[in-house]
Amino acid sequence: MTDNTPKIVYRFKNALYINLTNRCPNACVFCIKNPFKMYFEGYNLNLSGTEPSARQVLDEIYRQLNDAPTKEVVFCGYGEPTMRLDVLLQTARELKQKIAAGALAPFKIRLNTIGLANLVHGRDVTGELAAVLDKINISINSPDKQEWLRLVRPLPQYADKGYESMLDFIRLCAQKMGDVVVSIVSRQGIDAQKTQELAKSLGAKFYLREFIDDK
Ligand code: SF4
Repeated sequence: MTDNTPKIVYRFKNALYINLTNRCPNACVFCIKNPFKMYFEGYNLNLSGTEPSARQVLDEIYRQLNDAPTKEVVFCGYGEPTMRLDVLLQTARELKQKIAAGALAPFKIRLNTIGLANLVHGRDVTGELAAVLDKINISINSPDKQEWLRLVRPLPQYADKGYESMLDFIRLCAQKMGDVVVSIVSRQGIDAQKTQELAKSLGAKFYLREFIDDK
C-alpha cells in the first residue's frame, strides 16, 4: 500500500534526505515539484504549509538511521533548506556533536542549496553553515546571469542581486570549508566548460549532474 504521509526525512540509496520546507526563493522552469506532483521516489514531500521543528527532524533521523547503512544526511527536499536556517543549523549541530561524542556512527552532513542564503537573511551565514556541515552542493544552473534569471526565475526581491550574491556565497563557503561543489544539470545549451572555470575561480569543485524529468 502506498504511504502518502508527508515525509520530513526520507531514505534514498545510502543517504537520509531532510525536507525542511517547501518554500523557495526561486521558481525554476525545470523544477520537478509540479510535474512530480510533490512526490519523489514514491515519497510524498508535500508539507502542505507545515514545517517541522528541529526536534521532529532529529527524532525522525534517529528512527530511520539504522534501517540501512547511512553515509550521508542531506538537507534537500522540495524547497530551499536555508529558508529555515535556524532549524537547519540546530539539526546539523546536534548530529555533529553526537558523531564527535561517538554516540552515532559517523556519516557526512551535506546541504544542497541554490546559494541565496546570504541575500535571503541579509548577512553572511557561511561561517555558521561551515561550522556544522561537511559538504555544500550549490546548484548554480548557469555561468551567465541573464540565463540564470531566465532559468531560475527568482522572486522579485532577489532578482537584482541574486546572481552576484550566489557567486559570493560560493566563494565564502569555499574559503571556510574544503568540500564545496558547484553543480549544473546536463542540459542542452548550458556551457559546462565555462561553469567549471567559474567554479574553479571561486575556489569550488565542479559537478555535472544528470537531468531527471517526469517521464
Ligand atoms: S530551487 Fe529547487 S525547489 Fe526551488 S524552484 Fe528551483 S528546482 Fe524547484
